[in-house]
Amino acid sequence: MTRIAVIGAGITGVTTASSLMDRGYDVTLFDRNRYAAMQTSFANGGQLSASNAEIWNRWSTVFKGMKWMMTRGAPLLVNPKPSWHKYSWMAEFVGSIPQYRASTVETTRMAIAARGLLREKAERHGFDFDCENRGILHIYTNKSEFDHATEVNKLLAEGGLERRAVAPEEVHQIEPALNGEFYGGYYTESDFTGDIHRYTTGLAKSIEAGGAALRFGTDVDMLSADKNEVRLTWSRNNESQTESFDGIVVCAGVGSRTIAAQLGDRVNVYPVKGYSITVRLDDEESQRAAPWISLLDDEAKVVTSRLGKNRFRIAGTAEFNGYNLDIRDDRIRPLIKWCERFFPGVSTEHAIPWAGLRPMMPNMMPKVGRGVRDRVFYNTGHGHLGWTLSAVTAEMVAEIVAKSRTVNGSRGASVSAPATLRTQGAV
Ligand SMILES: Cc1cc2nc3c(=O)[nH]c(=O)nc-3n(C[C@H](O)[C@H](O)[C@H](O)COP(=O)(O)OP(=O)(O)OC[C@H]3O[C@@H](n4cnc5c(N)ncnc54)[C@H](O)[C@@H]3O)c2cc1C
Repeated sequence: MTRIAVIGAGITGVTTASSLMDRGYDVTLFDRNRYAAMQTSFANGGQLSASNAEIWNRWSTVFKGMKWMMTRGAPLLVNPKPSWHKYSWMAEFVGSIPQYRASTVETTRMAIAARGLLREKAERHGFDFDCENRGILHIYTNKSEFDHATEVNKLLAEGGLERRAVAPEEVHQIEPALNGEFYGGYYTESDFTGDIHRYTTGLAKSIEAGGAALRFGTDVDMLSADKNEVRLTWSRNNESQTESFDGIVVCAGVGSRTIAAQLGDRVNVYPVKGYSITVRLDDEESQRAAPWISLLDDEAKVVTSRLGKNRFRIAGTAEFNGYNLDIRDDRIRPLIKWCERFFPGVSTEHAIPWAGLRPMMPNMMPKVGRGVRDRVFYNTGHGHLGWTLSAVTAEMVAEIVAKSRTVNGSRGASVSAPATLRTQGAV
């Protein structure tokens, strides 16, 4: 049986492992953490949002970013300390502005294709992930943000998404718990939400039961690849071992850049930090006062999800501060204030703070495909949309592996996607 190593047990690694197993591969999944989904796939915004497919590479983002850098509590924070990685990444970000329209349309298409695949995996593997199929409502308190959303809507529509403008009264009809006055909104009925951690751990358990080897608590330290094999040296506690595989898929989130460099590739992922709070809805009044519809406040750059009866997740902010996971009080406080402003009946007495690093490419498009060396593949760099896109990029990379003659020998082009997935148009 052809042996494939997958590095990283976040959402991208676990979905990739599952899509490879669907094609008959013998999969070994590595992660330095003791459990799946302990890094960026732990407590994110929860949105499965084709409606958030707009990429950030625009001049207005750059100018807004400069203004925000001077404003306390703004959604963006940049540590001005010199760093070649940060500033070269930013230069590439600006260089990708001409692709803004094409990349937004492409991301929308991928996000739509991902939906059915994500649900299909959960149904087939039989786990629950607090999925809420109630749509996502974008809210605007001023005309200029709403007008920009109207422009973005044309690109989302080109990508195949139906999203409709709603008047201020309808904003409140869609989500009666929402407090405040709005200029308008945009509602995407087909978007949905769920708990990324429950999904990733549920799928990880199922693929383990199906025969995948899960090597947790294992750091992948050294890698090399040639036309005959891929070699991995990994360490666990004080033990170190070198193992050979027929192929490798790198899904290592913000660790992908270092791994890629060892394999002769440049995958310029930057860790863009974000924060979330999970508000515990312990009392009945809080449960009633919290929204069930997922919200996206485009001005504050805040997203929300209701994760079952007892949890309300609020996430946001972007911080350029290297590989740093400190939870800063001055970044958490605006999320709590946001909750208190729009949902005054929700008790914020127990709000659990968290920080994660978005693995972001400068052009905001995930790296899905081959490396320069035979047998090396990537599914990484999904930035702010890793949960939304994971199911489709897993299919894409598994299909590319399946078509590789080097990995499969004569089996090569004959391997194809399972019929159920082909009918959903993902591959
Ligand atoms: C605040 C916040 C809110 C967000 N909200 C949303 C949202 O609403 N919707 C959405 O679609 N996306 C959202 N995202 C983005 C999404 O969460 C990420 O894109 C996604 O979780 C990335 O998954 P991943 O598998 O690529 O990385 P990770 O989950 O970080 O997994 C990578 C894994 O690789 C392992 N690893 C790395 N290097 C090595 C090594 N050398 N050896 C062994 N193991 C290694 C790590 O331990 C880690 O477990 C949000 C992100 C943040 C931070």
